[in-house]
Amino acid sequence: MITAVERADELYDVIRTCTLCALSQTRTNAVPGEGPLDAEVMCIGEAPGLNEDKEGKPFVGASGQFLSELLAAAGLTRESVYICNVLKCRPPSNRDPLPNEIEACSEYLDLQLDLVDPLVVITLGRFSMAKWFPKQAISRIHGNVKEVDGLFVVPMYHPAAALHQGNLRQVLIDDFARIPAILERARARRVEGQGKVATEPVQPTTAELAVDLTPRIEIPNPSAANGAPRDEPSPPGQQVPSPVEERLEPAKSVEQIRLFE
Ligand code: SF4
Repeated sequence: MITAVERADELYDVIRTCTLCALSQTRTNAVPGEGPLDAEVMCIGEAPGLNEDKEGKPFVGASGQFLSELLAAAGLTRESVYICNVLKCRPPSNRDPLPNEIEACSEYLDLQLDLVDPLVVITLGRFSMAKWFPKQAISRIHGNVKEVDGLFVVPMYHPAAALHQGNLRQVLIDDFARIPAILERARARRVEGQGKVATEPVQPTTAELAVDLTPRIEIPNPSAANGAPRDEPSPPGQQVPSPVEERLEPAKSVEQIRLFE
């Protein structure tokens, strides 16, 4: 019987040689993701940046260092968390992911969610947020938790956003401070086996309510307002409509993934 590690290795091999979208022609390395397959927390960013593309690893460089600091503040180590992105290959010049690229790559993320089966997912930036919070504004819902079939999903700004907008640094720190309490609730819910779909955010605990008193900051910069994704801003003229504003079609089947079925 194939083990989880073997399934992950096969998946990573498929991703590294994937040609399902045009990003395969411009990447240096695909970045499947990394972390323990029994991680309780899964962080999902947007797409590899320049450094990630070079090294084949997610969240390296300044934003990765800040993510490690945020995790530490939440009592977590980077090594204990599974980290990946919506897209596994870098968009040229760090432009925003295109809807067809997100669709082409979506089944890989679904397989990773199935493999890791985390208790808590932290979405970093608007593109991973859109998977669970379509047509929502990150400036309004960041730090709030939504429970979906026992999975607790928490939208956060992308750490790189704090590199562009200094006032987001404290917002991220405050949002990550909620993770320990959310994780405790997720553990209890998993033990109870009472996961169910919730259409409204779960009521915050007393501790979380205290954090909720932190003023939410509206960001005037359009790119940062949606969680600026990577260290480099998108070049002028290459901005594309946010997928948050678009309803994504269901993912098509991915031929290479059938070996995992
Ligand atoms: S579908 Fe994903 S893994 Fe495949 S080429 Fe596109 S971005 Fe890379």
